[in-house]
Amino acid sequence: MPVSGLPPYDENNIFARILRGEIPARKVYEDDFALAFHDIAPKAPVHVLVIPKGPYVSISDFGAAAPADLVAGFWKAVSSVATSLGLDQPGYRVLANMGEHAGQEVPHFHVHLLAGKPLGPMLAD
Ligand code: 5GP
Repeated sequence: MPVSGLPPYDENNIFARILRGEIPARKVYEDDFALAFHDIAPKAPVHVLVIPKGPYVSISDFGAAAPADLVAGFWKAVSSVATSLGLDQPGYRVLANMGEHAGQEVPHFHVHLLAGKPLGPMLAD
């Protein structure tokens, strides 16, 4: 059981299949540590997902188990994707869902980059 309390990593989750090139995705960035691609069901004018290249089910699992170079490389990719997409002004939101209460659907750690309009309150009421 990963530290996150979620089930073990499923090698056939949808993002693992995108990483292996088995399922197409609209890629915006890729390096040794991370892949970024457009969300299939965007919640904002810009909705990009950034995923690490490694078998981590959640942000907790990633933080606890990933090697330091991957952690650093992944987070550098997140901010550099936002900058390269021109999102620093007027800003963007980074969001990671972890587990049941957050409604995490895909059990491969990912962050959402949301932008392109005023995003409103941080949480729905
Ligand atoms: P979560 O709820 O796990 O934080 O977010 C999962 C996200 O993955 C959702 O926003 C959903 O629209 C997106 N998603 C699910 N399946 C696919 C897919 O096959 N391709 C892409 N590009 N995004 C997907």
